Amino acid sequence: MIAQVAVSKCNSYEVKEVEQALRDSLSLLGGITCFVKPHSRVLVKPNLLMSKPPEDGITTHPEVVRAVIHILKDINCKITVGDGPSVWGNYIENLDEVYNVTGIRKVCLAEAVPLISFDKRRMRAKFPLTCALDQCDYLVNLPKFKTHELTLITGAIKNLFGLVSGTYKTELHKNYFKPSEFAKILVDIYQEAKPALTIIDGILAMEGDGPATSGKIRQLGLLLTGSDCVALDTVMAKIMGIANQEVLSTKEAALRGLGEGKLDKIKIFGEDIEKLNIRPFILPKSLARISKLPKPVQDLAKILIKYYPYSLRSKCSRCGHCVGVCPSKCITLLRNGIQFDYNKCIACFCCQEACPEAAISVKKSILAKLIGL
Ligand code: SF4
Ligand code: SF4
Repeated sequence: MIAQVAVSKCNSYEVKEVEQALRDSLSLLGGITCFVKPHSRVLVKPNLLMSKPPEDGITTHPEVVRAVIHILKDINCKITVGDGPSVWGNYIENLDEVYNVTGIRKVCLAEAVPLISFDKRRMRAKFPLTCALDQCDYLVNLPKFKTHELTLITGAIKNLFGLVSGTYKTELHKNYFKPSEFAKILVDIYQEAKPALTIIDGILAMEGDGPATSGKIRQLGLLLTGSDCVALDTVMAKIMGIANQEVLSTKEAALRGLGEGKLDKIKIFGEDIEKLNIRPFILPKSLARISKLPKPVQDLAKILIKYYPYSLRSKCSRCGHCVGVCPSKCITLLRNGIQFDYNKCIACFCCQEACPEAAISVKKSILAKLIGL
């Protein structure tokens, strides 16, 4: 079957506008019942990376979640909502804070839909995934349209990483720290989770050093809808101005035959993305610099040139979140900020992703400096 993606304009998070845009997108693709059967059990998984309000553009907007709930209620589905953000310390309390601050709890309460935690898990070949997946008939995936320092984009496939239970995410970062290996793990998760429907919230998007506080919010005004996460990430990369082969998870998933990674083979409904005239997204620092090199040396550069996290002490509140998420345990909390042990750092940028104060930037290796990157 030919891969299909609907691209719809939606310029605000006003509830009626979001719902109408989503209903229109789904109509273009044949309607919600082409993805989810009536009366089924559905798990809705937004991107709730950290406890930041929706206007920060880091997490899936609650009005997108509300619109999806309304559409699923129309066909009498039994809905649950949940995510597994990388919270540290007291899991349930911190998860509660994420659910409160992101506005998801308010929507779920108003819609009388259970909001669950992913604390119960079942081991798969290489990682445990939430048992909530076993208890639903369909997964509806609601990623955010953002750049990502490690994986370049965080869209349809990357959002599924939140299905990995609790602290095991840290283990995966530690054990599969090369970007190419980590991309394979993401695709393994995609293969297990098989979302029936994915809607990427690109109304408020993010560029630069995403996916968290170090990124820059960008008003994009788009929603991307479909069932093929490879095709969705391919279209998303195109809109961002990124060559598709650059996104390793898309490349890997297409190689495994899990979806369509060639833009010219994807049928795009709704907006003509060529005519939208979207300025290319600012890439994360590490990747933006390498992409300036001539094509033939880019692959070599990715191996030789390293980028590391760098502490901006004036912004650091000493909250310790980075210490808690670091898979290599190479961050020490000091009286006036933090210190990295670069001998142990695997450049996964989990610390930057977890920092609530945008207090972690990117530092170049000596080789990168020598060749002027
Ligand atoms: S210091 Fe940051 S980038 Fe380095 S291993 Fe720890 S979390 Fe990853
Ligand atoms: S760098 Fe960020 S996450 Fe780490 S202690 Fe400082 S404010 Fe907290």
